[in-house]
Amino acid sequence: MNNRSIVHMDLDSFFVSVERLQNSALNNRPIIIGGLSERGVVASCSYEARYYGVHSAMPMKQARLLCPDAIFIRGDSQKYSDYSHMVTDVIAEAVPLYEKSSIDEFYIDLSGMERFFGTWKLSQELKERIKKETGLPISFGLSSNKTVSKVATGTAKPAGEKHVLQGHEKVFLSPLSVKTIPGVGTVTYKTLRQLGIHYIKTVQEMPRELLFKTLQKPGLDLWDKAQGIDQRPVIPYQERKSISTERTFENDTIDVVKLKNLLSAMAENLGLSTP
Ligand SMILES: [Mg+2]
Repeated sequence: MNNRSIVHMDLDSFFVSVERLQNSALNNRPIIIGGLSERGVVASCSYEARYYGVHSAMPMKQARLLCPDAIFIRGDSQKYSDYSHMVTDVIAEAVPLYEKSSIDEFYIDLSGMERFFGTWKLSQELKERIKKETGLPISFGLSSNKTVSKVATGTAKPAGEKHVLQGHEKVFLSPLSVKTIPGVGTVTYKTLRQLGIHYIKTVQEMPRELLFKTLQKPGLDLWDKAQGIDQRPVIPYQERKSISTERTFENDTIDVVKLKNLLSAMAENLGLSTP
């Protein structure tokens, strides 16, 4: 398990990119997608809108105040789902083992392919292929495990790529905010901040038991991740066509994002880590 090559790929501001594919007048402008009613939330926004402090899961009301000149789009779950499948098809055709962890995120296990192909080159080629075949920009991180690769993708965005070499996981993570560790939600982040913990480096230097005392089991998980340790396997993706998550949510908000947030909130409450 220790010599793995795991790629994390994440489409850049996915919903916005899809809208721009269909309407080039949206390029280079602040775009905000989500529920447009009083209670709506931001599902996705362009980098031009992020510049004003807008981010996903923010109340739409607040987004309107921060960036009144943005172009507001209600969004179309079905359309995004179709594009997501297109990307999945390209990946499925190119690699033997991948996991689809959300509508716009994938983990790919390239372990064992290092010697013959070069995992970095393989990842780059796949990124280019996705761009060419679907028109969508995607970023990726490559390392020995899921957590480090996901964090690496985050530092590479947009349209970027980052390779964290074996043995460099801890050094790579240490200067970053604890917020960048996957699974650290609002509640955990607040607790850590109250303890004066801002950077991953601090967690790396803390005794493991201390994090257990503070956060119980999730604390141990967090400590491991901060050290760059994550043994979780890439779980092969199975399309679940029969389940429509959309139906159970009010159609005023972007269902996928709502569901994603709900699931991670539940996971945090249950003390589980989200992928
Ligand atoms: Mg994304």
